[in-house]
Amino acid sequence: MVHFERLNKWFGNGLHVLRDIELAVQPGERIVVCGPSGSGKSTLIRCVNGLEDYQEGRLTVCGRVLDSEAAVAAVRREVGMVFQQFNLFPHLTVLQNLTLAPTWVAGLSPAEARDRAMAQLERVRIAEQAGKFPSQLSGGQQQRVAIARALCMQPRVMLFDEPTSALDPEMVQEVLEAITELAGQGMTLLCVTHEMGFARAVADRVVFMDEGQVMEVAPPAQFFSAPASERARAFLSKVL
Ligand code: ATP
Ligand code: MG
Repeated sequence: MVHFERLNKWFGNGLHVLRDIELAVQPGERIVVCGPSGSGKSTLIRCVNGLEDYQEGRLTVCGRVLDSEAAVAAVRREVGMVFQQFNLFPHLTVLQNLTLAPTWVAGLSPAEARDRAMAQLERVRIAEQAGKFPSQLSGGQQQRVAIARALCMQPRVMLFDEPTSALDPEMVQEVLEAITELAGQGMTLLCVTHEMGFARAVADRVVFMDEGQVMEVAPPAQFFSAPASERARAFLSKVL
């Protein structure tokens, strides 16, 4: 579903941010990406929907090699993304946030877009807030709206970049529960997070990154009980 082959990326300032990335994510697989700050986690998952380009190697997403603007445009229709900051449109209601792309990008009628939006809001248990503006919702509610918005485009892959790290502690769980439910429904997902309880419960495999490299890929039970590298051990001693 997502296949990195010896992928290398440099930023313009010469920073070698992704080094020889090899990773194959199967359909329906749930991947948690963790690692120290600056290790390249966000850059890695941003590559998957073409928010970052790369200079060497190959990245294939949903059967398309990301090597042209046309391929990026096609892949973006298959891949949803949720960020740390919810990035909702502040001047639109919850419902309008959700119907915008389905009507303008996917060409749904307003009624179809509305039905789809309400179904996704039900899925994250927030349908009763459809008429509100983002500023009238809690952080946890806003993030669930952002998840529902991404789902409205019926993606085959969902990317999450630290979806709970901007939230007050009491709201973390409701967002993790929404993602866990998605995971249980067979969605392919890649999630950058330091919520190790979530990783343990939901991930098929944990990817540990350090200094632009994938240092370890292992099932959570193995990664948490017997990390292979000293760096992973040091990292885990800080987050667990
Ligand atoms: P964090 O846990 O803090 O979110 P991360 O693992 O997500 O970190 P990235 O955001 O992928 O790390 O950044 C990896 C490296 O690339 C860092 O050194 C960062 O400063 C650098 N970097 C990120 N974005 C850019 C950019 N647009 N231009 C130049 N350097 C960048
Ligand atoms: Mg990051």
